[in-house]
Amino acid sequence: SREIRLASRPSGWPTAENFELAQVGPPAPAEGQVLIRNLYMSVDPYMRGRMNDTKSYTPPFELGRPLEGGAVGEVVESRAPGLAAGDFVLHGYGWREYAVAGAGQVRKVEEIPGVPLSAYLGVLGMPGLTAYVGLLDIAAFKAGDAVFVSGAAGAVGSLVGQIARLKGASRVVGSAGSQEKISYLTGKLGFDAAFNYKTAPVRRQLAQVAPDGIDVYFDNVGGDHLEAALEAFKDYGRVAMCGAISVYNAAEPVPGPSNLFLAVGKRLTLRGFIVGDHFDRMPDMVAEVGAWLRDGEITFEETVVDGLENAPRAFIDMLRGANTGKMVVRLVH
Ligand code: NDP
Repeated sequence: SREIRLASRPSGWPTAENFELAQVGPPAPAEGQVLIRNLYMSVDPYMRGRMNDTKSYTPPFELGRPLEGGAVGEVVESRAPGLAAGDFVLHGYGWREYAVAGAGQVRKVEEIPGVPLSAYLGVLGMPGLTAYVGLLDIAAFKAGDAVFVSGAAGAVGSLVGQIARLKGASRVVGSAGSQEKISYLTGKLGFDAAFNYKTAPVRRQLAQVAPDGIDVYFDNVGGDHLEAALEAFKDYGRVAMCGAISVYNAAEPVPGPSNLFLAVGKRLTLRGFIVGDHFDRMPDMVAEVGAWLRDGEITFEETVVDGLENAPRAFIDMLRGANTGKMVVRLVH
């Protein structure tokens, strides 16, 4: 069995040299554990933070040890009650071909006809819940709101825009980093308008696509996007502060929005959140988003990279925007 380890901590952008592919003996499950053959693993932006040796809401990855993260696999041997060979499970031991986990560390998932199991790493999993909770609970979205989402063609952002549309937003606008992604947003995903943040200042482009202002900003990016949203807000606007991917690879501290003071006069709410605190909302999300999926009202995209050895590249490419929708690594095909 093979696994990917953290060989060194990146400074700035991660490179292939920060990762190491290692061969390990076949793991054996102890009493109460299962042996899992991983089928798909996730690469997510938050993993970049765990590669730093700094205190955060999750502990840093350890040097010389396998990385961790969401994965879906098939139980091949079970020594745990309630789990049997052939069961599909979602768990946190990605970045390896075979994993051993306790029964309490895995969640059984069902195959849905027409939906790949990798959806449990995206639309029906952590990113889906992030979009759902961030928009509905944190930003307190209500029908009639005008919504702006950055990182709009990614795993989280693509769902935020669709949920806002289905729940009666007056206008949904988004930003992303290529013309193909903009066409995807205004076409398949049904955004009212979208812009490429790489081609002109965000502040100017946001004013053009949302001339009457915005009520909600779902922030995946930080930096100039947050600054532009502050400018575009109507009174009592709300920000769900979800991520700030524009600064994750900065080697030096980045200045904050120069216009933060607008939050005072406009009576804005800026609220951060971590999806891990909101797993109680998973059944609601799976029920509602699952129904939209079945009815064809929501669509999702995946960018699939094959082979464990390509997982570091998939991770780095995701940080650079190579993905549309969720970036996943397929370990078995
Ligand atoms: P995505 O699928 O959106 O992938 C990351 C995307 O970020 C890339 O595709 C790229 O798209 C975009 N990007 C990269 N650099 C920049 C930049 N400098 N400026 C603007 N966009 C950039 O990832 P996720 O959907 O998984 O995550 C989206 C955000 O949500 C991240 O910030 C993540 O950390 C956060 N998050 C937060 C959680 C929480 O609990 N708070 C939970 C899950 C995710 P493009 O081509 O458009 O540049």
